[in-house]
Amino acid sequence: MTEAAGLYVHTPFCSAVCPYCDFAVARGGGADRERFVAALSREIENRSGRNEGAFESARFDTVYFGGGTPSALSVEQLGAIRRRLVGTFAIDPEAEWTIEVNPEDASAESLARWRELGFDRISLGLQALDDRALRFLGRRHDAAASRECVERAREAGFRSVSVDLIYSLPGFDAGWWLETLDEVGALGPDHLSCYELTIHHGTPFGRRRDAGRLRETGEDERAANFVATHRRLAELGYEGYEVSNFARREADRSRHNRKYWRHQPYLGLGPSSHSFAGRRRWWNVAPWKDWSAAVAGGDSPVAGCEKLTDHQLLLEAVMMGLRQRSGVDCAALERRFGTDPAAGAAGQIEAWEKAGWLRVRGRRLEPTLEGMARADRLAGEWRLP
Ligand code: SF4
Repeated sequence: MTEAAGLYVHTPFCSAVCPYCDFAVARGGGADRERFVAALSREIENRSGRNEGAFESARFDTVYFGGGTPSALSVEQLGAIRRRLVGTFAIDPEAEWTIEVNPEDASAESLARWRELGFDRISLGLQALDDRALRFLGRRHDAAASRECVERAREAGFRSVSVDLIYSLPGFDAGWWLETLDEVGALGPDHLSCYELTIHHGTPFGRRRDAGRLRETGEDERAANFVATHRRLAELGYEGYEVSNFARREADRSRHNRKYWRHQPYLGLGPSSHSFAGRRRWWNVAPWKDWSAAVAGGDSPVAGCEKLTDHQLLLEAVMMGLRQRSGVDCAALERRFGTDPAAGAAGQIEAWEKAGWLRVRGRRLEPTLEGMARADRLAGEWRLP
């Protein structure tokens, strides 16, 4: 493997489960967390020797601790995982190390210790900046904690501070959301991830919706919110380089997430994590106790895998391109797959350009803001030759 790879470590624990969450999360007590860390060490050990050959000679330049809530683990537990990773894999000294953190865990002391462990990028799960919205979302922190943790993270010396926000909340209007963006702009993080609330079947929110007690935000309103988000953040100095991601400067863009969007290799560790190399994608079993039992028994925790054809990879590349400001680079994709992805979609491309959804710049097709708002639809209608 010549291309630098990414390493993802999944922590399944959360202190409480949010009513909109459909991830495989667990509350887990102290003993469970110890068991998790021991199993993760074992998985790292097992994986290092036999990653289906894919990562044996890999060099990693990004490491991402996600979840769940990685900050639910103690600094000692995070340190033990880090030592095991560094002792096992070839990780660049200049690698980007990201940790996802919930505001209630972000004391000045914890932040300083995460920095000492080598994390240089922090992703803060603020989700909202006012108490009414935080209560609606079932979060454990309040608005003051949201604001303070951004400042504290900066003081602790993280190279890049990112915040997560959720919008299109039922019962919260566009004015409320724009005020939130202005407020977050004043806090000045380097990077933002803004996600529309999705109501999943089987979650408490899903049950409330099915019972008619929660009205999901309509499609038109969501599209308007999407465009308004990108416009307001652009005014505040944040470029929307992907559908949900915004950065002040090129250097603040997530190097790790870019690997997912560009078919670069990544190795996932922990329950429900995904891995990708070449044309293969595989994923671990999601319930953490099943994953832990497999690892402890010396078995593979891999739940499934797929081998993608050129056609599938090309279609994915087009879809991911339509979700990024940089767009679809047809010349690069033709070099990679021997097929021009635009060759079968000339009529659609012309129509989308006329509709103001795409800009054609030589052989690069860049989605406009209105195009990015419809990225999934355009990808669904794209015809490959
Ligand atoms: S903190 Fe995140 S991962 Fe945990 S329950 Fe809430 S939404 Fe799910």
